[in-house]
Amino acid sequence: MQQHIDSYDFTGKKAIVRVDFNVPLNEKFEITDDTRIRAAMPTLKAIVEKGGSVIIMSHLGRPKGVDNKFSLRHIVDHVAAKLGVPVKFADDCMKADELAASLKPGEALLLENLRFYAEEEGKPRGLAEDATDEQKAAAKAEVKASQKEFVKHLASYADCYVNDAFGTAHRAHASTALIAKYFPNDKMFGYLMEGEIKAIDNVLHNAERPLTAIIGGSKVSSKLAVLKNLVGKVDNLIIGGGMGYTFIKAQGGKIGQSLHEDDLMPEALAILEEAKAKGVNVYLSTETVITQEFSNDAQTKVVSSFEIPEDWEGVDAGPHSLAAWKKVINSSKTILWNGPVGVFEIPNFAKGTLRIAEDLAEATADGAYTLVGGGDSVAAVTQMGFADKVSYVSTGGGAMLEAIEGKDLPGIAAVRE
Ligand code: AMP
Repeated sequence: MQQHIDSYDFTGKKAIVRVDFNVPLNEKFEITDDTRIRAAMPTLKAIVEKGGSVIIMSHLGRPKGVDNKFSLRHIVDHVAAKLGVPVKFADDCMKADELAASLKPGEALLLENLRFYAEEEGKPRGLAEDATDEQKAAAKAEVKASQKEFVKHLASYADCYVNDAFGTAHRAHASTALIAKYFPNDKMFGYLMEGEIKAIDNVLHNAERPLTAIIGGSKVSSKLAVLKNLVGKVDNLIIGGGMGYTFIKAQGGKIGQSLHEDDLMPEALAILEEAKAKGVNVYLSTETVITQEFSNDAQTKVVSSFEIPEDWEGVDAGPHSLAAWKKVINSSKTILWNGPVGVFEIPNFAKGTLRIAEDLAEATADGAYTLVGGGDSVAAVTQMGFADKVSYVSTGGGAMLEAIEGKDLPGIAAVRE
């Protein structure tokens, strides 16, 4: 049975906590952005303050085995400073028995990078490039078999399991999905995970209507599952960014050199058809800022998205589209935003994306629930200084995207089961 971190009695208990401490390090192994470490602190602090001890586990990067470059040793002091208690370090996550056993209430232990072991991801390593299918299957079976021992060993360190790693919730790894079953009555989410789950729920399952999704980004192919799921759920669907041109071309528009995927035009039309059948209003960027060069001082023009000259390309939403979208945003009670509506990395083409951030901030101030999640729109709102002016900014790019696609995330399902 799933427990709740607020009501669980941690007194004298050892909690093994999966966090996402996959932070960027510079060449001197200094942390360049500690957002992920700070995000897990409410959970870790709550447990030690309630008389429990924490065994912290995480991955860092994509090591192919033991590799100092990806050692969590580099972050121990920083974690201790943020947590406010000394943090012991186990330099092998499979040899932490004594350190774990000696933990007293209020103490903390950080385990070395889980991905130093292939068992964490459950994928074989070091296979020869010319390995046969049989060899691949045998290697996979071998790592799956030893994965059971790996999970059991990690579980043996603790009395309860807390998952606070939303960033890896879409991965069915040992520490995110498999370990939970060793704590049938002592498993729960941490506060970060709770916040993300609540945000997903507020938008996908319990939204106050009208519900609007703004989906941008470069390609239809990477957002197809998102669009397919949302078209059955939302009242309004705003489609912007590079992917919008596939929809325009599919309807007979002339899009010049704009980004598009011809093979996805039938899918785009099918989405428009489905939206129509379900009474969902679709708003494309009917007016576009175009350029002939991907540079900040390039000449630009504003034209109809259906009449883009041959050697020009669309790089941002035009003012009329933005004004129309603003009306939709203003009349919505719940808004989900995923993906920039222009090439926001170039300041002159970032105006549309900035406007969306401003409109969402205004809608939030007026009482709407606004979630920014999954990828580059998170970078955009953060960079533009709007992160604290919307209701929730997701910390998990890939995980949030899969949630918006309507998938059950293994890291969430394992705790709920
Ligand atoms: P995604 O990762 O799919 O959310 O896409 C984000 C990327 O889409 C950003 O790097 C944007 O620069 C890019 N993007 C947005 N609009 C356009 C556009 N009109 N043309 C080309 N790229 C775009």
